[in-house]
Amino acid sequence: MTQASSVQATAVKAPNVHDAEPIPEAARQAIDDLMQSGDLFRYTAPENAPVALLEQEFAALLGSKYALAVSSCSAALFLSLKALDLPRDARVLIPGFTFAAVPSAVVHADCIPVLCEVGDNYRIDMADFEARLDDDIQAVIISHMRGHTSDMDAILALCDARNIPVIEDAAHSLGTTWHGRNIGTLGKIGCFSFQSYKMINAGEGGILITDDADLVARAVIMSGAYEHNWQKHKGPRGDNSADLAQAFAKWQNQLPLYNLRMSNLSAVVIRPQLPELARRVRDGLKNHDYVAGRLNQSPNFHVPAPLAPEQRAPDSIQFNLVDLTDAQITAFAEATAAAGVKVQIFGRSADNARAFWNWQFIKDLPELPQTRAMLMQACDVRLPVRLSQAELDIIADILLNAVNDAAARAAA
Ligand SMILES: *Cc1c(COP(=O)(O)O)cnc(C)c1O
Repeated sequence: MTQASSVQATAVKAPNVHDAEPIPEAARQAIDDLMQSGDLFRYTAPENAPVALLEQEFAALLGSKYALAVSSCSAALFLSLKALDLPRDARVLIPGFTFAAVPSAVVHADCIPVLCEVGDNYRIDMADFEARLDDDIQAVIISHMRGHTSDMDAILALCDARNIPVIEDAAHSLGTTWHGRNIGTLGKIGCFSFQSYKMINAGEGGILITDDADLVARAVIMSGAYEHNWQKHKGPRGDNSADLAQAFAKWQNQLPLYNLRMSNLSAVVIRPQLPELARRVRDGLKNHDYVAGRLNQSPNFHVPAPLAPEQRAPDSIQFNLVDLTDAQITAFAEATAAAGVKVQIFGRSADNARAFWNWQFIKDLPELPQTRAMLMQACDVRLPVRLSQAELDIIADILLNAVNDAAARAAA
């Protein structure tokens, strides 16, 4: 039979796409020092704790005034909503294609997630976004899902005109730019993740950035800066900024403490990776575009192009299946899995956390026909930035052979 014949002929072993890069050697001494001193809590040292240094360095790297490191990007999103001081049951507009952590953060903050449609280029459908924005929306979270940037010019214009604050979920967008500006600095608050599948890997961790002293002061206190620990948070370039001191004084004892802090151990794993970011972004984009070029040669694959102002920083590739029947899609998925490349078709894998119909914790979960149609065709393959061109070719060959076989098999 023709089934997967050319895939099996690819005798070469598929590369492991789940391992990250090794953590830079420079982290070892810092970890060893922490083991010696036992100083793992961010607020023990009077100043210059690794978490505080990370916040200074990250804010400077992104070009924002303030940063707050926390336990995850989900925690950063939750704190962002709390920092905005939204009333209970405030309606928060989010894209219908994102990770379940995003609607979860909204629910956690006692707000109501409102979903909008996403197009087959994985970006927010602007007509639907605009239509829903006037339905009593009090905040917006733009999730740049898998690092795909939605039309931020249009989104910011619409939200600014209505005075609706924008939070950027930039968990997967570290290093992406829009008109040359860093993603995460365009809205009022930007949130990033240091979970292992993101550009910088600490296992777990997150950080939020903002230029607003009042917002960061509220987030700092609620993250668990009890008593006067907020004094260990500085303004730009480590200054004791007057804006910040005033904001902290205003919110002293006024807010609940959720204890979502980052440990010094995470910070010492993250800090030596910051200087690696530019290289990772460059390699990730080069690798992605190389594989995209190969996949786009098949009539059955389509890799959507970035928007014009967008410079991407991918560590995975997404592509749509074109003109394939359900049976052909199943054959494609089976053949790639057998050949050792895990292709996640978002809408076709059981209980996928990125498929909105699995967010059943949302009351009155809506139907989003356009987003659903996209999820049923959209494939996701990890491309860690460390892969060589030979390894990328193995992956591309497996994908192309599998789709050619799948397409030929049912036609026969
Ligand atoms: C990973 C991710 C999150 C969640 O980040 P955590 O740090 O694991 O909480 C949220 N949104 C997007 C788009 C992500 O990729």
